[in-house]
Amino acid sequence: MMEKQQQSQLQSVYNPKIVEDHWYQFWLENDLFTATENKDKRNNYSIVMPPPNITGSLHIGHALNNTLQDIIIRWKRMQGDNVLWLPGTDHAGIATQNVVEREIAKEGKTRHDLGREEFTKRAWQWREKYGSNILNQLKKMGCSCDWSRLRFTLDEGLSKAVRKVFVTLYQEGLIYRSNYVINWCPRCKTALADIEVEQREENAKLYYVIYPLKESVEETIIVATTRPETMLGDTAIAVNPKDKRYEKYIGKIARLPLVGRELPIVADDYVDPEFGTGAVKITPAHDLNDFELGQRHQLAEINILNDDGTTNQNAGEYMNMTVLECREKVLEDLKDKGYLKKIENYKHSIGHCYRCDTVIEPYLSKQWFVKIKDLAKPAIDAVESNETSFIPKRWSKVYFEWMYNIRDWCISRQLWWGHRIPVWYCKDCGEMMVRMEDPSECSNCHSKNIVQDKDVLDTWFSSALWPFSTLGWPEKTPDLENFYPTSLLVTGFDIIFFWVARMMMMGIKFRGDIPFEKVFINPLIKDIEGKKMSKSKGNVIDPLLMIDQYGADALRMTLAALTIQANYIRLSKDKIETFRNFTNKIWNVSRFSLTHLEEFNPKEVKEENLQFSLFDEWILNQLNQTIKKVSDSLQNFKFSDAAMAIYEFTWNYFCDWYVELIKETLYRKDSSPEKETAQYVLWFVLDNILRLLHPFMPFITEEIWQKIPHQELSISISGWPEYKKEKAKKNLEEKVSTIQEVIKTIRNIKAEMNIPLTKGIDVFIKVVDSSKGKLIKEHLSFIKNLAHVQSVEVSESMKKPECAATGVLEDIEIFVPLKGVIDLDAEVHRLEKKLLKIEKDMILINKKLNNTDFIQKAPDKIIKKEREKIKEQTDIRDRIQKNLKALKSI
Ligand SMILES: [Zn+2]
Ligand SMILES: [Zn+2]
Repeated sequence: MMEKQQQSQLQSVYNPKIVEDHWYQFWLENDLFTATENKDKRNNYSIVMPPPNITGSLHIGHALNNTLQDIIIRWKRMQGDNVLWLPGTDHAGIATQNVVEREIAKEGKTRHDLGREEFTKRAWQWREKYGSNILNQLKKMGCSCDWSRLRFTLDEGLSKAVRKVFVTLYQEGLIYRSNYVINWCPRCKTALADIEVEQREENAKLYYVIYPLKESVEETIIVATTRPETMLGDTAIAVNPKDKRYEKYIGKIARLPLVGRELPIVADDYVDPEFGTGAVKITPAHDLNDFELGQRHQLAEINILNDDGTTNQNAGEYMNMTVLECREKVLEDLKDKGYLKKIENYKHSIGHCYRCDTVIEPYLSKQWFVKIKDLAKPAIDAVESNETSFIPKRWSKVYFEWMYNIRDWCISRQLWWGHRIPVWYCKDCGEMMVRMEDPSECSNCHSKNIVQDKDVLDTWFSSALWPFSTLGWPEKTPDLENFYPTSLLVTGFDIIFFWVARMMMMGIKFRGDIPFEKVFINPLIKDIEGKKMSKSKGNVIDPLLMIDQYGADALRMTLAALTIQANYIRLSKDKIETFRNFTNKIWNVSRFSLTHLEEFNPKEVKEENLQFSLFDEWILNQLNQTIKKVSDSLQNFKFSDAAMAIYEFTWNYFCDWYVELIKETLYRKDSSPEKETAQYVLWFVLDNILRLLHPFMPFITEEIWQKIPHQELSISISGWPEYKKEKAKKNLEEKVSTIQEVIKTIRNIKAEMNIPLTKGIDVFIKVVDSSKGKLIKEHLSFIKNLAHVQSVEVSESMKKPECAATGVLEDIEIFVPLKGVIDLDAEVHRLEKKLLKIEKDMILINKKLNNTDFIQKAPDKIIKKEREKIKEQTDIRDRIQKNLKALKSI
């Protein structure tokens, strides 16, 4: 007996630390997360995880993104689907390269000292050591990924996919090499994607420079620029064709000050007549817009920078300077020679390297590109026709905006860590070879003197293939057959273009089908005041710390409860604490339930023997409705609605009322149909609550569920509760609410009159309608138990007894005689004292609120709080006054 008790009972306090690790291990040992090779595709449900960087550490954004995926995955798994949640990591080119560079910097070395091969080796070593950190953190969160299918973007298979895509696109003329102006970090010596450039508004200067015309030096055209040193690379001046001021200059030639180069004056719509003087200098090698304008007007491209950001021979006498040195010298000379008209203060955004904060230089170089327009077309169509749909719907607009204005994609990066571009050049005959397999000699002249392209591919290139490369492509695999297209992608709005759009294009191109049916865009988390979380502001919430403090379930449930379909949500520690309290509530109600289910075996219950009370029927009906609400909400990705529905049912219906209502029955010693029914309903509802909660709070639900009577190995495969439409009942709510209101009113009278809740009292109830009277009489025992009442009399002709406190409901009056129950004089005295104090407080607050100085200076939040306080105090004062009046009338 003792043994059995120990087994079936829960620890007195919930300890997430022990429970969480234990059950995660159990799930792994029993292979519960592994998808099977299933011939029947209809039953399959798949998600590929947005691969975190191997340099990553779990932040609150990951926590949210993965919680939402796990909720859907666990929910589908419980429904019996063959579920695949494929995890993996991204090699994160520049991020990893920088981390490894910092490591070797500790030895006083640079990557150039090690050489490419040794450096790459070190990067792999780093990855072996630290690259799985973030995955272990996901396990802490309870993520039920199929770890047997773990992938890494630099895996052999995925690398093969990358090559296959590159070679195919090249052969079809969709990959080409060309000059291009890129974001160049002179410190990291690499091109950066736009997303990797941090734009910051800075105070700068706008310089007005005089360019004389070739025909007559008297005539000049003035241009404004923030980067005067780039004039050394100028090859034209441009004006807007509609700008009347400059009509006469179009087609003429200007002379570049200090250098003397001839510059054509061209007309182009790109020029903004409002900026500066309306005439701009054009430097195709050092500005992307100038580069594109240059292409339209066949302008020369003069690159004046080395790859370390210093000036090269094209800068003439300004060679071998840093950009800033060069700027100073050029300005000095312009001033001396009378070419500098004026200088204005000017605010504009300057790009910085997101890794090392160096100022980005737009830089002309040979890069590889994907010709994108033809790939974009079917990817646009797929979203327009709803083959792939965004949730919330509005995000498809962002997608379309990007896709309609798409530019060719620069895919080469000057890094060592990543997929090296599969192109070889013959040093003898200049032949270029694009190959699946590394060639050993030149295909043209058979020379062995060949070299591979130095660059690697943009990390987004391999992640664009993620939904099918992870399933085995280019091989024909059962996984690809079973799980592509995937069912759902959950990601953030900041990478709709960089990632989602590119997966769409590549999936359709190489698999002939969309990569995912639905894209849920999860909100971004801000702090409670709506500010972005950042280390410098000190308002970051660390999910691992939260798990340590409150448990993974509390964190997950909080994140789910906050996830409305908005752009931003606000998180605070307080909110996580609220849901930690919820875990404790579930724990305690389960402990109570278990003590009453020890001898209970649901299999022995014969349904025809059960005698459902009004409250049994009511809680079962509420449960049925909750199942519908949670299921429907998850179906529509309304995570907050789903989480709150089960939260409210558990707390407000089950714990606060139902369990209280059946306590007396459960405590009965002898078995009876009522007791058996109460046990049955208790078990049934608790079991359903745990299963509804499991996707949100996997650990605590497994721990408790294992202790209540159950069939399956784990709650995670125990089946999802089913809504039974035919069992939905109306009218129950009204009846139960009448009884609840009576109980609440009696409790309130007790509280207000300072009568201890457990003190038995007499109650008289006057009803208007006889059916209500009947209802109350039938449930007297519940009222007596929950409101601690000795006797209750109910009638339509009830007169108010002497010396009684009164509570009024819609068509019911409740009287509680006070004589002999409380010391009337002492109570009057107590209330008068309390009243005095409240009135004093109110005067103080009102003084504050009438003080104009305070109103002007205090934050709105504080003022609002004070106003709320006044309202609250007024309510309490009114109630005390009413009670005093009642007492004094006695
Ligand atoms: Zn950098
Ligand atoms: Zn050759």
